Amino acid sequence: MIAYLDNNATTQVAPEVIEAMLPFFTEKWGNPSSMHAFGGRVAAHVREAREKVAALIGADPSEIIFTSCGTESNNTAIFSAAATGGSHLKIITTRVEHPAVLAPCRRLGEMGHKVVEIAVDHEGHLDMDALAREISGGRCFVTIMWANNETGVTFPIKKIAQMVKEAGGIIHTDAVQAIGKIPVDVRETPVDMLSFSGHKIHAPKGIGVLYIRKGTPFRALLLGGHQENNRRAGTENVPYIVGLGVACELAAEELRKGAPARMAGLRDKLEEGLLRSCPDSRVNGDKQQRLPNTSNMSFEYIEGEAILYHLSDLGIAASSGSACTSGSLEPSHVIRAMGVPFTAAHGSIRFSLSRYTSAEEIDYTLHHMPAIVKKLRDLSPFVRT
Ligand code: PLP
Repeated sequence: MIAYLDNNATTQVAPEVIEAMLPFFTEKWGNPSSMHAFGGRVAAHVREAREKVAALIGADPSEIIFTSCGTESNNTAIFSAAATGGSHLKIITTRVEHPAVLAPCRRLGEMGHKVVEIAVDHEGHLDMDALAREISGGRCFVTIMWANNETGVTFPIKKIAQMVKEAGGIIHTDAVQAIGKIPVDVRETPVDMLSFSGHKIHAPKGIGVLYIRKGTPFRALLLGGHQENNRRAGTENVPYIVGLGVACELAAEELRKGAPARMAGLRDKLEEGLLRSCPDSRVNGDKQQRLPNTSNMSFEYIEGEAILYHLSDLGIAASSGSACTSGSLEPSHVIRAMGVPFTAAHGSIRFSLSRYTSAEEIDYTLHHMPAIVKKLRDLSPFVRT
């Protein structure tokens, strides 16, 4: 049996998406920018996909640019803001962003920009007072994630965007983990730019989106051809763009049909079952204000990686955010920013579900986890006697 509970890392490609993509490898492989009919036929499909992607987030199709991934979308937004914002622009982000936001912001810091990383509390909530102070102190660009990839905790992006717009700043949000799991609508949430990624919503790896609201100052990152209305050079990845269009259409339908509630039900069953069956376990991050598919749990006194290896042997895929530093495993920057105690931080594991996750996968995991935790605790040097 296989239990795939690592959907925040990547998702399986939906069969409908694969089916829609195939003709664009075999029959309709023209270049959509070509002048001839062979390419023109393909351009119509790119247009249709752009409309479907825009519809998922309430955007106008002209506000959508296709990129290669969420990382490229984030880098494009951040470097564009810096290029159009002048040398005194202050960049405001948070300590718990994905590296695809933190690294470009830190690069801008090295290049002379003032960069501020707002802290979070024990539950993963943003320090809104500190954020308000920073936003009011001069011209700013704010890049804050909609939902955290490790804990699932969501930030009040609508309120943050309103604060930024009132102060005359520019706001980008990394919505890679939010899209398809909770409603995201740029008509209600006044962000200027928003990133997301195909492979988190059952499209293939290698396709991403950057939404840019009309009128937002913009400077392209990739220079070359005139594709994407001069905003992202490079021949369009037509099969993946078509696949993403279908994935977005399916995501909208699943949101309407209640997939989030179904995922939350299974996630809560897993979480509550593990809290009951594994002593000294805890949930990291606010349990209410979070994505319906994510659970970040700590099992005290044992290493998360050791749990992952044992789970993997049984065909269960989950993840931990730890990074290997100087030969020892360091808890992720997100878990550390939340101040999770040392003994729990090292045993943190992320389970993340998708609309394909079955009750059997959850039962299978619930069945095996207690014995794994017990076995590792018996070996742990940290366990109290
Ligand atoms: N932002 C967040 C919040 C993510 O979770 C990820 C991927 O895990 C990314 C950005 C990067 O997306 P991609 O893998 O498409 O580059």
